[in-house]
Amino acid sequence: MEKGGNGHVWALEQAAELLVACRYAIAMTGAGVSVESGIPPFRGPGGLWTKHGEPPMDAYQRFLADPKGYWEQRLKAPNEIVQALAQARPNMGHHAMVELEQSGVLRYLITQNIDNLHRAAGHQKVAEIHGNAQLLRCIGCSQRFAWDAVPIVLDALPPCCPTCGSIVKADTVHFGEPIPPEVLEACFRETRQADCMLVAGTSALVYPAASFPQLLKQRGGHLIEVNLYDTPLTQLADCSLRGPFAEILPTLVEQVRAKLTA
Ligand SMILES: [Zn+2]
Repeated sequence: MEKGGNGHVWALEQAAELLVACRYAIAMTGAGVSVESGIPPFRGPGGLWTKHGEPPMDAYQRFLADPKGYWEQRLKAPNEIVQALAQARPNMGHHAMVELEQSGVLRYLITQNIDNLHRAAGHQKVAEIHGNAQLLRCIGCSQRFAWDAVPIVLDALPPCCPTCGSIVKADTVHFGEPIPPEVLEACFRETRQADCMLVAGTSALVYPAASFPQLLKQRGGHLIEVNLYDTPLTQLADCSLRGPFAEILPTLVEQVRAKLTA
């Protein structure tokens, strides 16, 4: 893994070559790409959980036991993360990834982020493994709704699904809650199809995100990593690009564009 100077240019060139030459490229993103849009991370120094404490490991079970209490607490607490999510905008990296999708190079995107920024930038094929904070989800029929599509009335909590009448919760996946099976299936299906994966802003240590780069490599695919630092994934990567997502991605896409039109 060469870094800095000519090594960096060479790595960019190699990454662009891999993306253009592959048959089916997918991407995976994590907290690092959101941090560059002003969303504080959960873990680490300055992280929301570092400051305010981690949510309980059985948050989903608590919700199931007392959905009314869950909703009362949610509506009472417009906290730091809600505010950050409302103010965040996609950065140049998000926009560059949309161009990769539109040019047919990138077929699918798996994200661990809940902030909706990839979709806000215009990305179409996205699996949000931890859900989307802009949406609600019915625990009965799994249908998703915009927050304003379900009446949320303070003296009639929890809100009910307009389709099946079951309880509705935030779409974000809580501790103790299984990842919605159709989302997980899509991620595995896409990973099995892929022969190249671009991983940005995540060290992919946590299941299920950790599975996808490993599965790709087992199947002989190429891995491109974009991160500020070395991560446990660096050893697996064919090509590591060091630097901010919002700077690296546009430069990479420029190179891909040049190769596509050459
Ligand atoms: Zn329903």
